[in-house]
Amino acid sequence: MSDFYCEEVLSGKTAVENVMETDNVLAFHHTRPSYQSHIVVIPKRHIPSLIALGDADDALLLEMLTVVKRIARQTVEKYGACRVITNLGNYQDSMHLHWHIVPRWNGDTNFMSAIADAKVIPQSLEALCEAIHEKIGKPN
Ligand SMILES: [Zn+2]
Repeated sequence: MSDFYCEEVLSGKTAVENVMETDNVLAFHHTRPSYQSHIVVIPKRHIPSLIALGDADDALLLEMLTVVKRIARQTVEKYGACRVITNLGNYQDSMHLHWHIVPRWNGDTNFMSAIADAKVIPQSLEALCEAIHEKIGKPN
């Protein structure tokens, strides 16, 4: 199992766009986002997953959840709703505790949807329309 966060992010090999940082926690924009907003929160020291945290890690857990809460609040303010996710077990792609914070909208689909290897960024039609208008301008 790989550990993208220790090997690439915390080592500095892969540059990330920071969103928030504390003494022990880093939040940044996902390097391969699955949503129009996709922020990842990680502890700066190696912890394999949420269920690997021990009683001695309670202060770190609180520090992480404080960062998660602040970003989730900003996401709700901007998009109206959001989801906070941490994967565990067989479907945890990177074996370093990490939280995904992504927006939700009416009619959205499951997290990380993909069909026939087609990678898509699911979003509401309103958000897609807004993104297109930002790129090419609004029609007259
Ligand atoms: Zn790690």
